[in-house]
Amino acid sequence: MSSWARFLFHDNLNDFLRPSTRNTWTKYQFTGSPAVKDAIEAIGVPHPEVNILLVNQVPASFLHPLPPNAQVEVYLANPHRIWPPNYALQAALPASDGFILDVHLGKLAKSLRLLGFDTFYKNNYSDKIIAEIAHRENRRVLTRNVGLLKQKIICWGYWLRSQNPVMQLAEVMAYFDLKEKVAPFTRCLACNGQLAAVAKESVLALLPPKTRLYFNQFYRCPVCARIYWPGSHFEKMQEFVKRVEAT
Ligand SMILES: [Zn+2]
Repeated sequence: MSSWARFLFHDNLNDFLRPSTRNTWTKYQFTGSPAVKDAIEAIGVPHPEVNILLVNQVPASFLHPLPPNAQVEVYLANPHRIWPPNYALQAALPASDGFILDVHLGKLAKSLRLLGFDTFYKNNYSDKIIAEIAHRENRRVLTRNVGLLKQKIICWGYWLRSQNPVMQLAEVMAYFDLKEKVAPFTRCLACNGQLAAVAKESVLALLPPKTRLYFNQFYRCPVCARIYWPGSHFEKMQEFVKRVEAT
């Protein structure tokens, strides 16, 4: 025999719902006693964006069995909202700001690296590998694929609402509160290695003649050996960083 429960999703969790079911109590039909988490994901909301569940006004865990006729309120993981400590479902975010991105987000990966954030990205990572790395290294998953975020072993993550890489960066900065943590020009844009300053003499032989003449400050990626210097593209990047910092 089937039962009913009613769900209310708060704030940006409504982005996952059909327009007619947003910001209003929605009926959900089920059989047996599924975990509340399974019901939430069946409705369309991936668990990494959920932090508080109230079942009949009492805080509940993801695995709490959904009782018939329950009223379930679902709140997003919002670092700016203060809840009593026993309410939170998600473990606090790890101190390090490590990300892993799905295969379609190459531009966003570069922008995050440019701002100094530890960003794993390869255009051949499968969803399974992304989930495993995120789990193993406490990384936050960024994706446009809601299905990826529903993978059980993923703890932290965010579904990018926009398809525009600049808007996506603004979303990530706001969601994870990154503005104060920006450290531009400290990571290799190609491979995510942490750049180290090197003496000009040690890279002299590798530089184009004009670079050798006009520049004195150099950085090397210890992983892929690429050399960086404040060249013509540098000003453009600085403008980009300023724009991001001003948002
Ligand atoms: Zn590199």
